[in-house]
Amino acid sequence: MALVNEHYLKLPGSYLFSDIAKKVNTFKVTHPKQDVIRLGIGDVTQPLPDAVIKAMHKAVDEMAIKETFRGYGPEQGYSFLIDAIIKNDFANRGIYLDPSEVFINDGAKSDTGNIGDILRHDNSVGVTDPIYPVYIDSNVMAGRAGVLEDGKWSNIVYIPCLSENDFVPQLPDRRIDILYLCYPNNPTGTTLSKTELKKWVNYALENDTLILFDAAYEAYIQDPDVPHSIYEIKGAKKVAIEFRSFSKTAGFTGVRCGYTIVPKELNATTLTGERIPLNKLWNRHQCTKFNGTSYITQRAAEAVYSPEGKEQVKEIINYYMTNAKIMKQGIEATGLKVFGGDNAPYLWVKTPNGMPSWKFFEQLLYEANVVGTPGVGFGPSGEGYLRLTAFGAREDCVEAMRRLKNWIK
Ligand code: PLP
Repeated sequence: MALVNEHYLKLPGSYLFSDIAKKVNTFKVTHPKQDVIRLGIGDVTQPLPDAVIKAMHKAVDEMAIKETFRGYGPEQGYSFLIDAIIKNDFANRGIYLDPSEVFINDGAKSDTGNIGDILRHDNSVGVTDPIYPVYIDSNVMAGRAGVLEDGKWSNIVYIPCLSENDFVPQLPDRRIDILYLCYPNNPTGTTLSKTELKKWVNYALENDTLILFDAAYEAYIQDPDVPHSIYEIKGAKKVAIEFRSFSKTAGFTGVRCGYTIVPKELNATTLTGERIPLNKLWNRHQCTKFNGTSYITQRAAEAVYSPEGKEQVKEIINYYMTNAKIMKQGIEATGLKVFGGDNAPYLWVKTPNGMPSWKFFEQLLYEANVVGTPGVGFGPSGEGYLRLTAFGAREDCVEAMRRLKNWIK
């Protein structure tokens, strides 16, 4: 008889986005003539850059010829892509990485979800709240989260990020073994300055805490004071793993490619106090459980760093960030309070008069026919907020703001 991992049974029944889809479908059935604008799910809408498409075509052709055909590649990724990443994403910022510290993957979700495999089940876990749900759910699956009580897991330390504290997480008064940070942040669209991030790196150095730093939205940073990588902070290589993704940078949500940096200096400890390099463990994890990202995909990602690729990516980011600007101005003009959107493609809207997130979501859907994401779906501190994404088509963003303005009036 096979026994199930009962921790999975603790997870709440359905996933946030399927709940939203159900509500939107009900609305569409009952209001078939209404045109709904979806600014809920964080998926991109612009096609892949031309340089990426060309590189993929070329790679496909190589696969058709005996001499250039590729079978299994290195589990950690091809050196042509690793070298391009090190040179363009890190060396340019004065960060020096060894190729063996970079692990190419099929997107940041897999590694942010799987990283816990190399960590014991009884580590304490901290998250900023609200947060990308994968961090918490994957810890629930591993048995690290405890039990769910009033929307909070008993063994997770929630660090609230609210308008009251300018969305800057305060250092906890206790030590935490593993801490998730995501900057620029999904869902709030806010960032941490170098000074603020430094406080967390110092906290981790003092408390022997492992920081799991998700920089999936790094490409959206506009402000020079906002760090692109946690390794811009001195000492961070001793305490942090960083996750990156080509999904939002270059429209790879359907292509699937990202990477994880596990510095060689980074250690964690056994119960007997022996220090173990996490790079070695993660390499073992990947060699056993992952067979590499496809050659075609890695060539596509490499093209993001070509001169044409860089230009085209910049144009796409500018397009979404212009959407964000239009939306932020539009929301502010209604008198609603809105945060984020300056260094990230997310706008975090405070609901009027403290209205619950789901109620505001439904009113927005039924009265303005615009779909957002209820903030509470990202954690207890998201209650009273709604997330809108700037990933839509320009005309949809403009029309959504027109509807919002008429509705709020
Ligand atoms: N991390 C954050 C914060 C995200 O918002 C997302 C996707 O929305 C991911 C990771 C996953 O991205 P990927 O498409 O690379 O798996």
